[in-house]
Order: sequence, then structure tokens, then C-alpha cells
Amino acid sequence: MEFQPEATMQFLENSLIELITQTSTNLPPDVRAAMNLALNGEQPGTQASQALNIIATNVDMAQSDEGPICQDTGMPTFIIHTPVGVNQIEIKKAARRAVAEATRRGKLRPNSVDSITGDNSGDNLGPETPVFHFEQWEQDEIEVKLVLKGGGCENKNIQYSLPATLEHMGRCDRTLEGVRKCLLHAVWQAQGQGCAPGALGVCIGSDRGHGYFLAKEQLFRTLDDTNPDPVLRELEERIMTEANTLGVGPMGFGGAKSLIGCKITAANRLPASFFVSVAYECWAFRRLGVRLDASSGAITSWLYRDPERPVERLAKLEGFPLTGREIVLNPPLTEEQMRALKVGDVVIITGEMYTGRDAVHAYLMKNPPPVDLNGAALYHCGPVMLKQPDGTWTVKAAGPTTSIREEPYQADVIKRYGVRAVIGKGGMGPKTLAALKEHGAVYLNGIGGAAQFYARTMEKVLGVNLIEFGIPEAMWHLKVNGFIAIVTMDAHGNSLHADVEKETGAALEALQTL
Ligand code: SF4
Repeated sequence: MEFQPEATMQFLENSLIELITQTSTNLPPDVRAAMNLALNGEQPGTQASQALNIIATNVDMAQSDEGPICQDTGMPTFIIHTPVGVNQIEIKKAARRAVAEATRRGKLRPNSVDSITGDNSGDNLGPETPVFHFEQWEQDEIEVKLVLKGGGCENKNIQYSLPATLEHMGRCDRTLEGVRKCLLHAVWQAQGQGCAPGALGVCIGSDRGHGYFLAKEQLFRTLDDTNPDPVLRELEERIMTEANTLGVGPMGFGGAKSLIGCKITAANRLPASFFVSVAYECWAFRRLGVRLDASSGAITSWLYRDPERPVERLAKLEGFPLTGREIVLNPPLTEEQMRALKVGDVVIITGEMYTGRDAVHAYLMKNPPPVDLNGAALYHCGPVMLKQPDGTWTVKAAGPTTSIREEPYQADVIKRYGVRAVIGKGGMGPKTLAALKEHGAVYLNGIGGAAQFYARTMEKVLGVNLIEFGIPEAMWHLKVNGFIAIVTMDAHGNSLHADVEKETGAALEALQTL
């Protein structure tokens, strides 16, 4: 089979744009099936079940509108197999053009930032971005697999070097029992920050760098497959059972389902090293693949999909089942209103809010805000935005980002500028909790990854400041209608996150010697 770069480039690029678009917007069937099980496993009416209903609605919305499932479309990572003789350099060039075009179309968020200057390239291209792994094989077709893994769950990847002593787990030896303890600890430490229920890709052994790659590669297995190695299969099954007794639950709200998959491989290691590398993947498990005709670049088949089976809707209910007890908030908010709220309250925000995440928080430590934040709702969110020909902006995806990154700054921002509601996901730490109490403010947990669900509540983009930080990091001024969130940290010193972490820590300890 001969590959003809000149004649086929356009087919190849279009095929890869389609792969990126489908990966970003249409959750694969095995992940849908696992999320369906999670949905059925939670007690109706609980926060865990409400969170999953929003997630399910969001997944359906993303597919029907071809919008990103989550606003964080991650670091695009390609694993490509080519027949001998195929020009990998041309494939790489086509894939880079496809990534830039998918970004321009709003299917990927501009996520590539210069690590020294902080400048966003705007098209997801840059040194070592996207990531490519090429292999040759003795087949006639090209195979391209893609995973889009966001920063929230990527930050919860963890690597253990055994022997080690772990919180709530005690000593972990260089044995399968030691590995088991590490994997349960990996689920526990992610809490809501990695948008549980999540999945683990695991490598036992290898070196630090390759071990992490092999762990991520396990995420290309389907969630319902069976490990051919009986020892690893047994460990996978055991982790699935035990991790789902921990009670982390969807979004870390507490609940029955903490894990939707565990996939383990083992690689040889140096006698001196024993690494257990864990790639933690969130529920928004975006991974797909295609087979391409090596002479035309056209898609011949999809991986992870059954062409006989149409995509099934995930949502049983539409969105968030309202009880009538929800509290409506119209910013600007008052101290009195905030002190009346308590952990567990569901709020609906209608009015104005501002986004602000890492770059904005760092900026606010040295500069006054470009807008009046007194009484404001500050949303930890890096949205996907598209500029229209008339110069206005449209919100394409806008779920919450992981809030704990702002822990060093948040208390000062609340104190200095009078912010009354901080919205994000995964909760914040003791410094912020103390500031909420002192100044009369609350932390509201949105549903991580529900980027389409929340984008639909955003009626208008009223303006943007600090756009020089790039689209995800700019401060967007939004008019929202019906934005739902749950009070998880209140002005009385209560934190659902601290409570769940403590309870699940005790559950982890109970698994120490089983
Ligand atoms: S679902 Fe959560 S962890 Fe996953 S990419 Fe989106 S924000 Fe990040």
C-alpha cells in the first residue's frame, strides 16, 4: 500500500478534524454505559444523583449540538500506528493543522500556554503540543487514537515509589498488596477535584517517565474489557469493588460511585525502583479512534463504536430536578444573604457574574480589579468562547474549573474586594473557609465538566477584561439565567469537602488490612 502525501493531505486533515470533533463532543459508548450504571446506583434526590443528572443532560446536549462535553479539552494526545513506508512527518503536520482548525471552530479550547511567558498560542499548537506517539505496524491501514484529558484530572495523576507510607493506608510494600493500597489511595486523594466518578489507568513498574505514559495508554482500553492477565484482572476487579465503598461519590459530594474503571498493566523495572504510576481520568472520558485508508486518508471505520448501535441518550430526567426549595440569588449579593445560606442549600443564580481563574487571581494580588467585585459572584471557569464577525462573543462551553488552585489567593481576594460567592468545583481549603466565615461569603460547587449545561444558562457576554491572558484566563463578564450550584462551604465554618474527606479517609483505613 503506497501513501501519497500530496494527493491525500486534504482527506487526512478532514478525517482528523472529524476525529477531534467527535472526541470532544460525543462520549464513547463504553463510558456512557459506565455512567449509566453510576446514574442507576445513586439514591434519587441526593446531591450525588442530582450531579449525575446534570452530567447526563450535559452529555446529551454536547452530542446533539456538537459542542465540547467539557470546556477543558485538555492536552490532545495522539497514538498513531502506521504501515511501513508511510510518511509520519506529513501525518504530524496534518494533525497539527487539524488541531488548529478544530480550535478555530470551538471544538477545542485554546489550551496551549508558553511555560515561561504564560502566553497562550491561541491555536493549541506549541512546543510538544499536541502530543504524538508514533508506532509502525504490519497492517495496511493507519490507526489514530486520541484522548482529550483535562487539567483537573491530570493534576490528580499520582506516582508512588514503593515502599512508601501513605495517609490512611499505612505501609505499602513492593507487593501486589502494596499496589492495591496505592490504587485505593489514588481514588481517595482525587476527591471531587478530578470530577469523580473517575477511572484509573495504571502501570506497575517501568521508570518514572515511561510508567506515566503506559498508565495513560491503559485509558485506551474500553471500560468493559477484560484484562488477559488473570492476576491483574483480579486486582482490577478488586479495586473497582473496594473503591466504590469509599463514598467519595460524584463530584466528591459523597455517594455510591467513585470509580467507573480500573485498567492495569505491568512493565519490567529496575531492581532498585518500584513505581506505581496512575493516570486519573474524570467522568468526561473523551477518547476515540479511527482507521484510515493509507492511500486516501479517508476514515474506513471508527474505534470504540458499534456502527450497528445508535448513540443512546444518557439522561433519564432533564437536568436538575427542582424541589421548590432552591434559593434564588441575584448579584450583587449581600453579607446577610450569604450568612443565611448553609451547606447543602441549592442556589439558582440569575444576574451577573465574572469569571476568574489562575491568571486573574495572581493579577488581583498585585493590582486592583478592572471591575467592581463588591457583592460579586466570581466563577472559577475558563470558558470556550467564539468571536462573532460583529465582534460580539458567544459562550460555547463553560463548566467550573478546579478551585483549589486559587487557595493561596482566594481569602485575600474576598477580603480586599468584597466577593460574596466563589463558584467552582472540588472545594477549597481552610484558609478560604476561614475567610468565608470572617467576611460573610460562600463557596458554591458547580457540576464539573457540565460545560454545555452551564453555557446554556449564559444569556449574554457583557464584556471582557484582561483578554491579554488568553481566552480561558481572561475575566469574562456574563449575564446568566438559572445557573444552579450547591453550597458546599458556608459562612459558618462548615465544609462538605472537609466532611467527605474525613469520612472517606476513615473508609480507606477500614480497607487497609482486608
Ligand atoms: S470533567 Fe472536570 S476534570 Fe474532566 S476535564 Fe472537565 S473540568 Fe477537568
